[in-house]
Amino acid sequence: MPIPGQIDPVPTPRDITPRADGRVDLLGLPRLRIAELFAAAGLDAKAAKLRAKQVFHWLYHRGVTDFDAMTDIAKTMRPWLAERFVIGRPEIVLAQHSTDGTRKWLLKTDDGHEYEMVFIPDADRGTLCVSSQVGCTLNCRFCHTGTMRLVRNLTPGEIVGQVMLARDALGEWPKGSMAGLDEVEDEDGGGYTPDGRLLTNIVMMGMGEPLYNFDNVRDALKLVMDGDGLALSKRRITLSTSGVVPMMARCGAEIGVNLAVSLHATNKAVRDEIVPINRKYGLEELLAACADYPGASNARRITFEYVMLKDKNDSDADARELVRLIKQYRLPAKVNLIPFNPWPGAIYECSTPERVRRFSDIVFEAGISAPVRTPRGRDIDAACGQLKTAAQKMSRAELDRLADEKQAALG
Ligand code: SAH
Ligand code: SF4
Repeated sequence: MPIPGQIDPVPTPRDITPRADGRVDLLGLPRLRIAELFAAAGLDAKAAKLRAKQVFHWLYHRGVTDFDAMTDIAKTMRPWLAERFVIGRPEIVLAQHSTDGTRKWLLKTDDGHEYEMVFIPDADRGTLCVSSQVGCTLNCRFCHTGTMRLVRNLTPGEIVGQVMLARDALGEWPKGSMAGLDEVEDEDGGGYTPDGRLLTNIVMMGMGEPLYNFDNVRDALKLVMDGDGLALSKRRITLSTSGVVPMMARCGAEIGVNLAVSLHATNKAVRDEIVPINRKYGLEELLAACADYPGASNARRITFEYVMLKDKNDSDADARELVRLIKQYRLPAKVNLIPFNPWPGAIYECSTPERVRRFSDIVFEAGISAPVRTPRGRDIDAACGQLKTAAQKMSRAELDRLADEKQAALG
């Protein structure tokens, strides 16, 4: 099986994808680019810069999609903007609500590719699981996304658009006048925000390998972290990688979010089998890169994800080896034990609950936090990549009907 290189040559639309009506979608663009476009459309440099700042605020901080609602922009200016620009959102193909509160959306790019996002509410936080690619090139053996052909990288607009769509659906844009609305960065790293928001955390753990789409993921997360944008603290954002070692330092330096690493095995033979990128970047290299990850500390630990596969990686010896490795590399780490979520055709089974508990106890007794992640949204196929598959089995008419119903429900 070919293992892709550091930079995957997958086609990505340009930052501005031409629309049939000739207008330009501003979603996903940074202030400077918006100013450039305004200048190219005829505004002088100073006006372009000012209008870009205003539009940026309305777009990312207030979630406004209609130029007419941008009340600090002159009334005569608004139609000028609307003739040339739009503020879009990813198209919703299907939205589902689990009995446990988990919500899942199947989305579609303008060129017809489907991808998904999941919102998981907990007692003290609400986490949005965001996709970075359509499919994935990495073929981890237990992962359903890995069985899909990679179609392409998502653009910054398609990535940040997921967060914006979630805020739309949850009705969580700041309201009222612009005065005093600048978000204060909240750095406590846990719990709902004081203003009672539901969406408090973001994990780049949806479809795709975010470090194979580094530039777009970085640009999107910058908009999410911008104080005048979505204003979410970097401490509330976690990027999960299967181990793209050469990009990890840049991730720390240029994005600065929390890091999660899909470890899943403690020796070369098993990791080579289940996470094939290990054949390219081995365990030692990976753990050394974790030890060097900028910003990692006891207060900001690296999360090691470990999917529990029956008789594959779940023995007492595996748990002890995991502890040994974490100690050997002096990693400020916590371990997330993920019960394997089966999908049709998967060749693995989930470890028994007793085995998972025992594994967790061994790691925990060594002084390392090792919670078992509760599976969420099973009734709506919330496992990675499964909504897309479930939707493909439905007829077009059925999907259209569901999408209409959901759009209506979202108001
Ligand atoms: N590509 C990145 C991020 C997306 S996958 C990565 O691999 O880290 C997010 C997490 O879900 C990873 O830890 C992945 O290993 C895990 N995962 C994938 N398929 C799973 C399944 N069927 N059951 C449980 N966890 C799974
Ligand atoms: Fe890709 Fe992550 Fe799935 Fe591996 S686990 S195939 S890297 S999405």
